[in-house]
Amino acid sequence: PYVTLSSSDSSGKVWELEGGDSLSYFIKKKLRVWCRQPRGQWELGMIQSTSGEEAFVSLSNGNVMKVDRSEILPANPDVLEDVDDLIKLGYLNEPSVLHNLKLRYSQGMIYSKAGPVLIALNPFKDLQMNGNDYVSARSQRAMNSPHIYAIADAAYNKMIRDEVNQSIIISGESGSGKTETAKIALQYLAALGGGGNCAIENEFLQINRILEAFGNAKTSRNNNSSRFGKLIEIHFGCTGKICGAKIQTLLLEKSRVVQLARDERSYHIFYQLCAGSSSDLKEKLNLRAVSEYKYLVQSDCMSVDGVDDAKSFDQLMEALDTVRICKEDQELIFKILAAILWLGNISFQVDRENHVEVVEDEAVTSAAKLMGCTSQDLMTALCTHKIQADEDIIAKNLTLSQAIERRDAIAKFIYASLFNWLLDQVNKSLEVGKTCTGKSISILDLYGFQTFQKNGFEQFYMNYANERIQQHYNRHLFKLEQEDYELDGIDWTKVDFEDNQGCLDLFEKKPQGLLSLLDEESNLPNASDLTFANKLKHHLHPNPCFKGERGRAFRVRHYAGEVLYDTNGFLEKNRDTMSSDCIQFLSSCNCELLQLFSKMFNQSEKQSVATKFKVQLFKLMHQLESTMPHFIRCIAPNTKQLPGIYDESLVLQQLRCCGVPEVVRLSRAGYPTRMTHQEFSRRYAFMLSETNVSNDPLSISVAVLQKFNIPSEMYHVGYTKLYLRAGQIDALENTRKQIL
Ligand code: ADP
Ligand code: MG
Repeated sequence: PYVTLSSSDSSGKVWELEGGDSLSYFIKKKLRVWCRQPRGQWELGMIQSTSGEEAFVSLSNGNVMKVDRSEILPANPDVLEDVDDLIKLGYLNEPSVLHNLKLRYSQGMIYSKAGPVLIALNPFKDLQMNGNDYVSARSQRAMNSPHIYAIADAAYNKMIRDEVNQSIIISGESGSGKTETAKIALQYLAALGGGGNCAIENEFLQINRILEAFGNAKTSRNNNSSRFGKLIEIHFGCTGKICGAKIQTLLLEKSRVVQLARDERSYHIFYQLCAGSSSDLKEKLNLRAVSEYKYLVQSDCMSVDGVDDAKSFDQLMEALDTVRICKEDQELIFKILAAILWLGNISFQVDRENHVEVVEDEAVTSAAKLMGCTSQDLMTALCTHKIQADEDIIAKNLTLSQAIERRDAIAKFIYASLFNWLLDQVNKSLEVGKTCTGKSISILDLYGFQTFQKNGFEQFYMNYANERIQQHYNRHLFKLEQEDYELDGIDWTKVDFEDNQGCLDLFEKKPQGLLSLLDEESNLPNASDLTFANKLKHHLHPNPCFKGERGRAFRVRHYAGEVLYDTNGFLEKNRDTMSSDCIQFLSSCNCELLQLFSKMFNQSEKQSVATKFKVQLFKLMHQLESTMPHFIRCIAPNTKQLPGIYDESLVLQQLRCCGVPEVVRLSRAGYPTRMTHQEFSRRYAFMLSETNVSNDPLSISVAVLQKFNIPSEMYHVGYTKLYLRAGQIDALENTRKQIL
């Protein structure tokens, strides 16, 4: 009864479950087939006749074409068109899967299942199905069709029933819809656990507004791209009501504050502030239009289609009120933002002795005033480096590039500190109540896997995080599943899957992994990005996941594809130095927040960015390890962010790189439901008549299965557990409900 599974290779054959024999049958019976066109796409057709290794296929447009047998795959019959779970497809090949998802997408059905995983295609338009009415309508109906709500509902019910913490893990490329999906899940859980109290739903909505204003930006992939990772942990009390929440974040991309790629924007908040603040506030902050600030104009992109920055600012102020940030603090926040913008406008000149000095203009006076110091103090802080030498303090003049670097470092530091401080305030307002039983549902929304023509330090750590998530996914869906079968004595043919352990090792191995080598080089005084690149080539060769390239570049083979990295800026960004005299300067400013930030800095551990990131990531993964995971894979059907466009090769590449083919094969061949004999008998024993109830859980279980006509090929009795094929437990549950 076990399906033999073919091993996967990269030629795209991973989907095929039914090979040669069934194809001959197809040809004989002249059934519907997919045939590959010269340009690579698949067309539906009917086999007319065959000769040797070739077949004549009539296509839907009336043409008849001669195709090699190797270019033909069986197509599913009409009844299996647009199935909601890919495991229901009779023939599981690439064109069938793509066709199925495309058909559903064109009808507005963006959600499908791939066994236990929810696939969500980004509609790039409002589907009008996530309103509040819809939430209540959905929760009343049996959740049969694939939806985020169904996933959230399952997580909630499992948490209540099994008293186990749950997690919803959302992954996908940048722009695929992760953050929107996370919001929908959060909204649903808030409705479910709010007990009719809209205040919680509203609070979550407002908190998202704050996080997005300060942590999201327009990128070339996504007009509202999250530049930080987040884990939202929602805590429920014993009655199932929400009693608090906690948000953890992962490294904000702070270089964006001072440096922008073309057509990208800095964080939304800057544009919102400039566009939406009252004239009163504008005057206080000496605020100008966006076009007057160098940090913002450098990318030649100041507005986003369909986004009203001024209106967003009004909403943001309301959101800040909701999380109880008082008006005085709000003004402090805006002052700091304005100070950052003015810092960016500060320019330098070099005098005859080659000393750098600040050009004394409006930028310095404005920045200094907003920061609460004199212009002179600010100018000194930017142009000189004070070093403590024994008893004395020696002031060293900086070069032009050092001064610019220092100015930008201060701007980045202030912004990142502001973000962390805001998060603390948000968390205070969400604080978990004392009545909590401690059970929770966590929603993970990290930055997506990214690859551009040139990839820097930001892509490097973001893609590393994605490798970790992928590992978690693999562990749960493949490794643990198969280990479970083996331990319980079930004959099981292993499904091969792309294990990414090799790539993770490449990053994490000590002392010779990418991260350790980066830290090591960052600590050497004379190291440069080039010496770092050379070091990598020297130590990491040969490694199947690594390839040295010319100059400062290297390549990593990620689970989602090869990425070319340019080490330009790696060392500096990893060191992320904020020299102590800068911190001292900030602490001397007459501004509560700046003083607080410098205090926070002095208390924090001085680690490199790579190390800090790894520690944060491990903490997060460790927390997820003890939860029951639910996976959602978001897919962007096109890179134009437009509705209605379904780019087959783009979808295919995303399906492949997240292992969807393997998941489907595994689920089809496997037993998605498993319960111990005890669990099973406890739940269903009452459905048996008194007479045949024995005390032994195993006999009770088997009696239940037989009495309710579960076909023997649909379950397997293991040493400790019962294994049921997809759909069987649903049938039993329905019967159980009727009897109850
Ligand atoms: P990611 O977090 O994966 O980078 P986002 O969640 O920010 O992607 O989605 C990018 C954009 O796609 C959103 O700003 C929105 O315009 C659109 N989008 C994503 N999911 C949905 C959805 N379920 N319904 C409508 N639009 C969506
Ligand atoms: Mg996002």
